[in-house]
Amino acid sequence: MASVREEIRRLNKQNRVLDCTVRIESVTAVSEGFTRVAVAGDGLAAYSEALPADAFKAMLPPPGGAGEGRAPAVRAFTVRHADRARCRIEFDVLRHEGFVQRWLDEAAPGDTIGLAGMRREFHPGTGVDRHLLIGDSSALPAIAAITESLPPHVPAAVYLAVGNGSDRDLLPRRGGVAVHWVEGASPSGSRSPLQRAVQDNETACGRTQVWLAAEAGVVRELRRLVLGGLGVARTDLHSAAYWKAGLDSTRLDDAGLRRYEREIAAGADPYDPATREAVELGL
Ligand SMILES: Cc1cc2nc3c(=O)[nH]c(=O)nc-3n(C[C@H](O)[C@H](O)[C@H](O)COP(=O)(O)OP(=O)(O)OC[C@H]3O[C@@H](n4cnc5c(N)ncnc54)[C@H](O)[C@@H]3O)c2cc1C
Repeated sequence: MASVREEIRRLNKQNRVLDCTVRIESVTAVSEGFTRVAVAGDGLAAYSEALPADAFKAMLPPPGGAGEGRAPAVRAFTVRHADRARCRIEFDVLRHEGFVQRWLDEAAPGDTIGLAGMRREFHPGTGVDRHLLIGDSSALPAIAAITESLPPHVPAAVYLAVGNGSDRDLLPRRGGVAVHWVEGASPSGSRSPLQRAVQDNETACGRTQVWLAAEAGVVRELRRLVLGGLGVARTDLHSAAYWKAGLDSTRLDDAGLRRYEREIAAGADPYDPATREAVELGL
């Protein structure tokens, strides 16, 4: 009866690090809120096993190009489609005010970016009665990939906060999956609409595996709700802060790295996803 936490720990342990340069093949608006970027490069041959919701870091050049004193900005994204034979992946980027938006405005086929990964983000577990997938727009690509991959005999409920009507089309429809749309692309902080929707509609029911990714404050509260009110086992919960209100990713990652190094020095298990969760969510 493997749990998502044990399985992700196992996957982390056997992970091969990928670190390469890729070339942009296309940059295409796929909905009102999302742009799809396709990249390819021989280094992606080492990405031999694509799993749903795999995440990577993109090293993006600053506007005007890289140069002395102009370090790349590092931003995390989710693989939406992978084509091993063509050494090619696609990822979907939410358009909102920030560094990535400015990069997207200038990005063009032929440009190169750095790519490092892959961080494993999902496993279906075994012996699970039901899946609960909760996220905001930043997690829509991951939840779309997970929904596609779910075993057909296991029911699932999805709670997604998205802004624009056409963004909803990016979630594949599947039998046995109940979808709850929540207004607002990027809820943050306490008592979010995402939390209220889960609280109003969910009750404890069999062995439920929960996958949760959104703004840090939203994730912290939803964690409490699913572990407390819904009685989900800690080992059946995978939660991640995909961003933090008021803090850009560069500063967020710097603070996280310092804390992560302290935790590891104090004996925390680097493969256990609970170590990353504790750092990201200040647990
Ligand atoms: C493992 C992982 C996988 C991810 N996958 C994806 C993905 O596939 N697609 C995707 O679009 N994002 C994804 N994200 C989230 C993305 O990395 C962050 O949103 C990142 O901050 C975006 O960088 P930026 O340059 O746009 O904004 P930043 O320059 O980092 O931040 C600028 C401002 O925008 C705010 N902000 C950051 N993110 C959001 C948001 N989502 N909505 C509203 N305000 C925000 C910040 O608080 C800050 O005030 C993922 C994150 C992680 C950790």
